[in-house]
Amino acid sequence: MEKIIFATGNAHKMVEIRMILGDLGAEILSQKEAGIVADVVEDGTTFEENAVIKATEIAKIARQMPGYENVIVLADDSGLEVDYLNKEPGIYSARYMGEDTSYEIKNNSLITRLEGVPDEKRTARFVCAIAAAFPDGSVEVVRGTMEGRIGYEIKGENGFGYDPIFYLPEYGCTSAQLSPEKKNELSHRGAGLRKMCKVIEEKKGQK
Ligand code: IMP
Repeated sequence: MEKIIFATGNAHKMVEIRMILGDLGAEILSQKEAGIVADVVEDGTTFEENAVIKATEIAKIARQMPGYENVIVLADDSGLEVDYLNKEPGIYSARYMGEDTSYEIKNNSLITRLEGVPDEKRTARFVCAIAAAFPDGSVEVVRGTMEGRIGYEIKGENGFGYDPIFYLPEYGCTSAQLSPEKKNELSHRGAGLRKMCKVIEEKKGQK
């Protein structure tokens, strides 16, 4: 059976990944499940570069392991772009104001930085780049996005990170107020994963 490793230790992401990539009929393992311990330095300047760095580094390690010579390694990099702030925090979303700073503080900081900014200039998006390192040495990368606006206050208990300030005008709520199912359906990660699923299927067809 074909094997896919997703370079993450995040159990929530793995649930979504298994749901979306399930139809590929491959065995899907997290990096942890594959027993790979590695701290990859994500020093790229774009989401795509970081996802490619992670996928190729983990693939190099995985291919040394017996039984994993033909594994496909996937990796993602995601974050929030706020247009009014020149797309900050962008690739630094997790590190914005310090890795250990609470999201209550990070979210309030963004609301304060947008004080007095009208609705139409509060546009923002979640971005997720997903890279795949294939056994033939080729690398593909796709991008999924979810468009919204930065709200005026923190709202909602679901989701994580910047969800409580990410307002979705079409739904009249923040992404932290959506059910987990709806969030997965609309999310940047879901969109990226669905695109990557097609790329993998096309690759299989070329064999
Ligand atoms: P990661 O590199 O994919 O783990 O995510 C980077 C950072 O982007 C996270 O720590 C969050 O700050 C932010 N982020 C990414 N996706 C989401 C989301 O769906 N909701 C809220 N914040 C997110």
